[in-house]
Amino acid sequence: MMKQITHWIGGKPWTGTAERQGDVYDPATGQVGGRVDFASADEVGAAVAAAREAFPAWRDASLAKRANVLFAFRELVDRHRGDLAAAITSEHGKVRADAAGEVARGLEVVEFACGIPHLLKGGFSENVSTRVDSYSIRQPLGVVAGITPFNFPAMVPMWMFPLAIACGNTFVLKPSEKDPSASLLLAELWREAGLPDGVFNVVHGDKAAVDALLTHPDVRAVSFVGSTPIARYVYETGTTHGKRVQALGGAKNHMLVLPDADLDLAADAAVSAGFGSAGERCMAISAVVAVDPVGDELVAKIKERVAKLAVGPGADERSEMGPLVTGAHRDKVVSYLDSGVAQGATLAVDGRGHSLPDGAGFWLGPTVLDHVTTEMDCYKDEIFGPVLSVVRTLSYETGMDLIAANPYGNGTAVFTNDGGAARRFCNEVEVGMVGVNVPIPVPMAYYSFGGWKASLFGDTHMHGTEGVHFYTRGKVVTSRWLDPSHGGVNLGFPTNG
Ligand code: NAD
Repeated sequence: MMKQITHWIGGKPWTGTAERQGDVYDPATGQVGGRVDFASADEVGAAVAAAREAFPAWRDASLAKRANVLFAFRELVDRHRGDLAAAITSEHGKVRADAAGEVARGLEVVEFACGIPHLLKGGFSENVSTRVDSYSIRQPLGVVAGITPFNFPAMVPMWMFPLAIACGNTFVLKPSEKDPSASLLLAELWREAGLPDGVFNVVHGDKAAVDALLTHPDVRAVSFVGSTPIARYVYETGTTHGKRVQALGGAKNHMLVLPDADLDLAADAAVSAGFGSAGERCMAISAVVAVDPVGDELVAKIKERVAKLAVGPGADERSEMGPLVTGAHRDKVVSYLDSGVAQGATLAVDGRGHSLPDGAGFWLGPTVLDHVTTEMDCYKDEIFGPVLSVVRTLSYETGMDLIAANPYGNGTAVFTNDGGAARRFCNEVEVGMVGVNVPIPVPMAYYSFGGWKASLFGDTHMHGTEGVHFYTRGKVVTSRWLDPSHGGVNLGFPTNG
């Protein structure tokens, strides 16, 4: 039977009839497994109204009460890791272990948010002027929205809503319409954890739902993660409508391999970070920058490893890499192989032959393009698929120039055994998240996640202390309690004495 997926508004599934719906595929088979309702401005308005109504009481809930709900939610997500991973695999296609991994990383943010009483502690200064005290507090914004991409249907929403809710806001999530089910499982777990109705809502849909959130006067802030053109649009539209916006965009992550690197370690890392989740990760390594003379040896080691990768359905425990999310996306990724070869790259490994026996599903095997140059489309664009491009370069400096010239600045890594070179790389590189002999340097929840340049619009990264700042406003109170020394009227600017 076809699964019907709808919005979650005011603590329960929406019961209306949608004007528009979208297909949700099982990428491993290419079959439509469900239909998801697309929200119009009316449904978005209903979700925002539910969140607005829930806000005053949730804002007033004690820190102890909020932390209790978060702890309960943490336990429930932990207990339902398997269900969440299965839902992700069935709609996204990634292998089960990878899906479980994203749930685990999302859970870390919930755990961080459990410490909200500590995170919201302000400062206090006694006697800033004679018998005058000052203290700082951070208060929630109100209704905030999250708009998220297909590639992490659980983790990316969990970068946002645990902290937003812990800070006392109410939340409307617009997940990707390609894999919407994980968000509804999370909504049910919130309800079971005791979160009051209306504090967490989900609306599904496309641009119409996004635009309704970006222009709604009651939405105070928007967190977005997705591709760069849409991130720019969300940032510009949201800020034009008076909202605080953090919009994380696309990526082109370089891995610089210096001549003294351990090439086995580098090859393992390039293959793991290039083909995990079929390359559909914003922190995937897509360009290996091999400094002379390591190129040939490194490519040989990468080829050896790629040949052994098990590609197959995500639900099959033997699979290490699953299909791409849709047929259209698979075709677009393949077009970069064609253009790469036409523009002079060499296909060191060609994944185009990969298909399942019945020919169905959105498959592309791992592919390695060698001798890629910076003018080629396969280098310039974010491919977001199982394609590793190898760029040969002469020196550390030319490698760094290439990274600096790239418009994106999400993640990067250097592979070397030279501590001085690694330190210089970390100091000089214009990228937000940097790995030293670590290919996917995703920060822990108590640090903040975010890129530079065209990978971020706005100035606040996600989770960690920057997340707490994004979802709160600062206030400073200066107070004097009556004492016998009344000073009389004074129109001068307050100075301290
Ligand atoms: P996308 O930009 O197509 O979609 C993201 C969200 O925006 C979805 O909810 C989608 O429904 C909505 N959307 C799509 N088109 C829209 C439009 N025209 N107007 C308004 N809203 C629209 O991204 P995607 O394909 O779902 O995800 C892949 C992209 O996300 C990649 O570029 C990847 O690098 C990026 N990403 C970035 C990070 C990061 O941390 N920087 C993390 C994960 C994914």
